[in-house]
Amino acid sequence: MGLFDRMAKTGHEQLIFCCSASAGLRAIIGIHDTTLGPAIGGTRMYPYAKEEDAVEDVLRLSEGMTYKCAAAGSNFGGGKAVLWADPDTDKSEELFRALGMHVEALGGRFVTGTDVGTGAYDFVWAREETGYLVALPEEYGGSGDSSITTAFGCWKGIKACIEEVTGDASLKGRSVAVQGLGKVGAKLVAYLCQEGARVIVTDVAPERVEEVAAQHPVERCGPDEIYDVPCDLFAPCALGGVLNDRTIPRLRCKAIGGAANNQLEKDRHGDRLHELGILYAPDYVINAGGLIQVSEEFPQFDRERAMARTAAIYQRLKEIFAISKEKGIPTHRAADLMVRRRLEAMAGLARIHVPHPAER
Ligand code: NAD
Repeated sequence: MGLFDRMAKTGHEQLIFCCSASAGLRAIIGIHDTTLGPAIGGTRMYPYAKEEDAVEDVLRLSEGMTYKCAAAGSNFGGGKAVLWADPDTDKSEELFRALGMHVEALGGRFVTGTDVGTGAYDFVWAREETGYLVALPEEYGGSGDSSITTAFGCWKGIKACIEEVTGDASLKGRSVAVQGLGKVGAKLVAYLCQEGARVIVTDVAPERVEEVAAQHPVERCGPDEIYDVPCDLFAPCALGGVLNDRTIPRLRCKAIGGAANNQLEKDRHGDRLHELGILYAPDYVINAGGLIQVSEEFPQFDRERAMARTAAIYQRLKEIFAISKEKGIPTHRAADLMVRRRLEAMAGLARIHVPHPAER
């Protein structure tokens, strides 16, 4: 399929190829849908095998951001940038300044920050060229570590899931299996333990498990055993694609809710969970805390407001579960439906004439 056909199929507005040979910049900015506001999305730095892989990634990721923003109630659209380069060897001041110039040239249609392969300090270089940045280090005016807000939102979302499957949102005595004890997973464990949940943890890095076990009363299991753990809720907080043909038959949980992006290997795996009666909290809804935080940097960051909006993930999931029940559809499809409804309503908002100051 040609690029224009591909963009028409997914509803993409713009794909911008950014080149600066002197800086070694090969970047693509994807703007999917700006119905709700300027596009927002991180910049991923990755040594793609070929150009088509970078194009495919930016199209897929920018579309995902439209859904994440719309579901979070944010007035931003979906965008993403990919930097075709190796984060281990290719970072430089000129590279990020060159990227900054291209972001600036879009005049605010796209706002960016960190993603896989890039860190907050890389954008301190970009900041010399553009102000359309989020998630800068706090000392440069950014809102700081977004994993704090993401973990908080996951905890609220898990309470919504537990209430849905047991009738009570309290986590006291409920069992939760957490996969991945990184920036988000470790903070989530703290919330769960604080509320009296029985928490079973795993990580491929044994030192992460040791660290968490030294601070909280958790049980441990091997990285592959986590799928077999009988529990109320499974919280994937490591990798994408963990809900698939190999893992789903092993699951012994009532619900799934965690931070990882793209948890369903394919959409049909969400359908399978629905058939099995396992409640799935759509990943882009439950893990939106970080996005909500950075979108609250405009016009000026207010942590209280960001946390209050993140706490509303609880309510957002309840709405999605209600749509799922009412329509008899899986929750991931109910979330997509909720997003499309919001986008259509905003796109279809009838215009009224607001007098220009000269007419008043
Ligand atoms: P991280 O890199 O800090 O942590 C990931 C952890 O998972 C690491 O400790 C790693 O050792 C572990 N891990 C990797 N493979 C594993 C496996 N097979 N089994 C068990 N553990 C494994 O990442 P993070 O910032 O905590 O993010 C976790 C997930 O949440 C990622 O998918 C990320 O994309 C997503 N997410 C993060 C944020 C955020 O604000 N940080 C926001 C939205 C989504």
